[in-house]
Amino acid sequence: MRIYLDNAASTPLDPEVLERMIPYFTEFSGNPSSVHHHGRQLRSAIEKARKTIATLVGAAPGEIFFTSGGTEADNMAIRCTVEGLGIRHIITTAIEHHAVLHSVEQMEKTGAKVTWLPVDAKGNPDQEALREALASDTRQALVCLMHANNEIGTLIDLHKYGRICEEFGAIFMSDTVQSMGNVQYNLAETPVHFVTASAHKFYGPKGIGFLYIRSGVKVPPLLQGGGQERNMRAGTENVPAIVGMAFALEKCINNLEAKRTHLLGLKKQMAEGLKASFPEIVFHGETGEDNSIPTVLNAGFPGAGTESMLLFNLDINGISASGGSACTSGSVKGSHVLEGLGVAPGLAANSIRFSFGMQNTPEEIEYALERLREMFRVKV
Ligand code: PLP
Repeated sequence: MRIYLDNAASTPLDPEVLERMIPYFTEFSGNPSSVHHHGRQLRSAIEKARKTIATLVGAAPGEIFFTSGGTEADNMAIRCTVEGLGIRHIITTAIEHHAVLHSVEQMEKTGAKVTWLPVDAKGNPDQEALREALASDTRQALVCLMHANNEIGTLIDLHKYGRICEEFGAIFMSDTVQSMGNVQYNLAETPVHFVTASAHKFYGPKGIGFLYIRSGVKVPPLLQGGGQERNMRAGTENVPAIVGMAFALEKCINNLEAKRTHLLGLKKQMAEGLKASFPEIVFHGETGEDNSIPTVLNAGFPGAGTESMLLFNLDINGISASGGSACTSGSVKGSHVLEGLGVAPGLAANSIRFSFGMQNTPEEIEYALERLREMFRVKV
């Protein structure tokens, strides 16, 4: 038996989504920028997908820009805003995804000032420190705070932080890659200027995502070339992936309550099973229904040996989980998120992110718990 509990790294492609995509590989050919019949068919599919996504997130179609995924959307939001709006002050935290962190660090090298906000032990950015940072520098700032953390699952209140940004006239960008498809958005009513998404986190294909840019915010493109995406993202559109992403998001949002119930059930079963078998277990980040996403549970096993051995042992016992972000798996440096929370290096090295998907079953969770108990020789 092989069990996949690394859905925050990537979810499996929904077979119905694949079915929707296939005609765009086989039946429809051409370039969506062409004005003839073939091109127009593809253009129409792209615009339909844009409208579907916009409706699902409470935005206008003109506010949605397709990208090659979450990384590109994060880079675009940060680099284009800093360069295009002449931003000289960026405010963020050390527990953002590397797509944000490394973009911010790049902007720092070009002379922007960066304020690193403290986070509490559960990964919530300090609101007072945000206020102080905004008040201390009268230049317009860019604030980057992820909605849901990919390693620990902590979900922040976008309205609360967005309102502080609004008060000071700051631009607010939020990486919503892990929350998209797990929470209902109404972006028209949310004080945020940019959000980012990646289809392979919600059962769509890899290599496609989107950036929401609030209407009225004018930034230059990241890529230079053709006039696709209203001159905002050059390059021939990946039509099958765009169609697949829209359908994948539609399925998640139309099924949101059932999805949440299923995932919360798995997370609760895993948390309770771990607590019962390993009384000293520590859960990193928020774990409540309202302040965390239902997909992620990050557990620290005090005194369990090195992280790689724990993960390696899980792997040979048939369970695929991770020590944190997939992008940094295998690196000798530990999790920058757990370090940012102040978790002791020994415990951080013995922490595992279990992340759940719609295809997982309670039997799989029980199996994973049994394997863990065997690995630690715990009697039940
Ligand atoms: N942001 C977050 C929070 C993520 O979890 C990820 C992927 O792990 C990304 C950005 C990058 O997305 P992509 O894999 O589409 O480039």
